[in-house]
Amino acid sequence: MIPFSKLSFWERSIYTDGIDFTIIGAGIVGMSTALHLRRANPSAKIIILERGYLPTGASTKNAGFTCFGSPTELRDDLSKMDERTVWDTVSMRVEGLRELFSLVDPSHIHYEACGSWDIIREEEESLTPDFLAYLNERLFVISGEKTVYAEDKTKWIDAGFSGVKTTYSNRLEGAIHTGKLIEELHRSCTNEGIHFLFGIEVLSFESFDSCVEIHTPMGTIQSAKLMVCTNAFAKDYLDDIQAARAQVLVTKPIANLSVKGTFHMESGYYYFRNVGNRILFGGGRNLDFSGETSTEFETTQLIQEKLQQYLNELILPNTPVGIDYSWSGIMAVGSEKKPIIQKTNKNIAFGVRMGGMGVAIGASVGKQLSKIFS
Ligand SMILES: Cc1cc2nc3c(=O)[nH]c(=O)nc-3n(C[C@H](O)[C@H](O)[C@H](O)COP(=O)(O)OP(=O)(O)OC[C@H]3O[C@@H](n4cnc5c(N)ncnc54)[C@H](O)[C@@H]3O)c2cc1C
Repeated sequence: MIPFSKLSFWERSIYTDGIDFTIIGAGIVGMSTALHLRRANPSAKIIILERGYLPTGASTKNAGFTCFGSPTELRDDLSKMDERTVWDTVSMRVEGLRELFSLVDPSHIHYEACGSWDIIREEEESLTPDFLAYLNERLFVISGEKTVYAEDKTKWIDAGFSGVKTTYSNRLEGAIHTGKLIEELHRSCTNEGIHFLFGIEVLSFESFDSCVEIHTPMGTIQSAKLMVCTNAFAKDYLDDIQAARAQVLVTKPIANLSVKGTFHMESGYYYFRNVGNRILFGGGRNLDFSGETSTEFETTQLIQEKLQQYLNELILPNTPVGIDYSWSGIMAVGSEKKPIIQKTNKNIAFGVRMGGMGVAIGASVGKQLSKIFS
C-alpha cells in the first residue's frame, strides 16, 4: 500500500490535507457524528478512518432491534441500579430512536414496527400486574404513550413455542435491517462530502496546540479535531470500558414460519427475531462473562450449542432446522449502563461504550459528540 507521503497533489487535497474533523470508526456512532458535524459545518473537511474493509465492531453485526427495555431486563436493572438511572437509560433509548429516524428514513432501513415480546419460561417467575402498571406509568412519562407493556397470553401459542408460561408485549419496539442502516449512513455521508479511508488503523494520536497528529501504518496525518468512535476498542485510552462479545446465529429458511416479530428472554440475555423466513438468535454472554470479554471475532461451542438447544426445544420445537450463519460482534460495557461522551483535551473527544443499545442511542450520541467542541 502507498504511504500518505507518496500520495498525489490531488489525493492529498481531497483526503489528507487541511482536515477539520477526523473521526476514528465507521460504526453507527462515527457516521452519525460525521453527519451532525456536517449540518453545523457545511464547508468543513471531515474524514472517517476505519481499520477494516468494512466497519469491524458491532454496527454491522448486531440483531437490529429498536429496543428500549423489555420487562425482565428492566426488572433486572431495577434490582442492580438505582431507579433514576434505569429510567434515564430508557429515556435515552426512546429519544435516541427518535433521533435515528430523523437521521435516516425508516423505510430505507426496512424498519418494521412489529412490537416485541418478552418470554417467561415455565420455571420462571411471572411479573405482577402492579409491576406492569408501574412500567406503563413510567413509559407514559417518558414517551407520552399509554399501555406500552401488556401481558399477551397467546403469542407464544400462535408462534409455536414450547415450555413457555406467558409473554409480555411491548408495542413500541421493532426491528431494522442492520446492513441497510450502515449502507444508508454511508450513502448519506458520501452524499454530504464526508470522506472515508477504509483499511487504515489508527495506532496512536497526540494533541498539540492547534491540531492532533494521528499515526497510522500509512504515515501521520494532521487534523484540527479528533473524535474517537471506536466503542470497545477505546479501552486502551479510557477507564471503565470492557469489551463484551455477543454471538449470533441465523437459521436456514423455514417453510411457513409462524415466529414473527422480536423476542427477548432471560432479562435480555437472549434475543431472537424473524428475518424474512429465517430466525436470527443471539445471546448467551451470561454463560461465560469472562470468556466473552474477548475482542476476537470468534464463536464458541458453549454458546452456540446453548443457542441451538433453545432453538430446538423452545423456539422451533417441531421443526428441525439447520444453521446457515453464525458470527460474533464486539460491544463495550462498563460499570454504568450509559455511554461515555467526553472531551479529553481541547482537540480530542470520545463517544464510546454503547452497551447493547447502540442502534437505539448511537445517532443521539453522535449528535451530542458533534457539539462537544462548540
Ligand atoms: C451481536 C450483537 C447484537 C446487538 N444487537 C443490538 C440490538 O438489537 N439493538 C441495539 O440497540 N444494539 C445492539 N447491539 C449493540 C450495537 O450494535 C452497538 O452498541 C453499536 O453498533 C456500537 O456502535 P459504535 O459505532 O459505537 O461501535 P462499532 O460499531 O463497534 O464501531 C467502531 C468502529 O471503530 C473501528 N475501529 C476500532 N479501532 C480502530 C482503530 N484503531 N483505527 C481505525 N478504526 C478502528 C472498528 O473497526 C469499528 O468499525 C448489538 C451488538 C452485537 C455485537
